[in-house]
Amino acid sequence: MNSTPAIQTNIPITIAGAGIAGMTAAIQLKKVGHNVVVFEQQSNVGGSRHGDYEGLENWIFDQSIPEFFTEHGFDYETLTTIPIHKFTVHSEYKKPFLVQSSRPFFQMIKRGPDEDCLDHQLYVQCKKEGIDFRLGEKAPKSIDVDSTGSKKAAAYIKGLNFETRLSNQVHLLLGKKFAPKGYTYLIIINGRATLATAFKKVKNNKTDPFENSIEYFRNRGFIIPERNSFGSRGSFSILDLKLFQRPFRIGEAGGFQDFLFGFGIRMAMHSGLAAAHQLNDDVYLARRILRNLNRKRNVSFINRILYERLSDKQLVKIAVKLSHVSEPLDILSQAYKWNFKNILRWFRFKERYEVRPA
Ligand SMILES: Cc1cc2nc3c(=O)[nH]c(=O)nc-3n(C[C@H](O)[C@H](O)[C@H](O)COP(=O)(O)OP(=O)(O)OC[C@H]3O[C@@H](n4cnc5c(N)ncnc54)[C@H](O)[C@@H]3O)c2cc1C
Repeated sequence: MNSTPAIQTNIPITIAGAGIAGMTAAIQLKKVGHNVVVFEQQSNVGGSRHGDYEGLENWIFDQSIPEFFTEHGFDYETLTTIPIHKFTVHSEYKKPFLVQSSRPFFQMIKRGPDEDCLDHQLYVQCKKEGIDFRLGEKAPKSIDVDSTGSKKAAAYIKGLNFETRLSNQVHLLLGKKFAPKGYTYLIIINGRATLATAFKKVKNNKTDPFENSIEYFRNRGFIIPERNSFGSRGSFSILDLKLFQRPFRIGEAGGFQDFLFGFGIRMAMHSGLAAAHQLNDDVYLARRILRNLNRKRNVSFINRILYERLSDKQLVKIAVKLSHVSEPLDILSQAYKWNFKNILRWFRFKERYEVRPA
């Protein structure tokens, strides 16, 4: 970014929402000398999350995860991340099998207000830079950046966290019975587990996919206590670049989300960087990021259409293929490239885009 602020620095830039997107925009702007005020309606940063595990995927963006955090203004070394090189795939059609990679599929992080959570750790870095947080305060009507999270629901997540004595492990459960048009995951790290189902609502679904998933893992010997589950939703939209104007909607508020699997964290950060560039009058850089993000979103939309066409058996077949190759991450990365094949698909599929531009 330009090292000198392009606009008067004594007028603070106001940001609504101290999520990942809002904090990224804030730290970028502060580092080049702007005054920044972040309003967060919760009484603490991460307060709307539940201490669940989420994954920083390692295939949508070209940069490695540490490089990505550095580029977005954060010190990666201070974050609590756990690399995941393998996971077990489950379905009704095949015995569970392992998919593994020499490079990590994910860096797992915890979401919430606690010290070992990503939200808290990014907050500490923002505070060190001198960013002014107004915790427990709803943002005023007139703001510069809107990063208040999901507005529409394109997909749903239901999950629960529990304690366990099992060692670190990650499981993926596939099939319409467990996660229609989605997937169920069980992540166990350091004695804490997150079991969650990401799904799209389908008509006439008589049973609860999340309950079916719990039952599946219980039948395989996992002890899953009765607990209150948490629920959430994710929103996705494709942005008309001309509509990126004040208040700049970033993160899920702007529909910056991966439509295939719901990996929104890096997209949220990248959109935060775009807003910061725009507010710093680095319009060319902002546009470049937005174009890149839109391409990723277009491709994730194509992948979503292809994914929903697959039968359970075909889905499992793809997972088996991933288990047989030496670098499964290369296949996943390729699926997100804006290449000739995907550009053609985009022109074929874009009319089916069901969520209108934000
Ligand atoms: C259960 C679940 C699992 C997920 N798993 C993954 C995963 O494994 N990997 C991945 O990459 N992504 C995952 N995602 C998606 C990812 O978490 C989101 O895309 C990302 O956190 C979005 O960040 P954000 O900053 O846009 O919004 P949020 O994190 O939702 O932050 C918005 C903030 O704005 C605050 N706010 C709202 N309204 C106001 C207001 N009026 N005034 C002030 N503050 C306000 C809220 O309290 C909140 O703190 C998951 C999402 C969920 C729900």
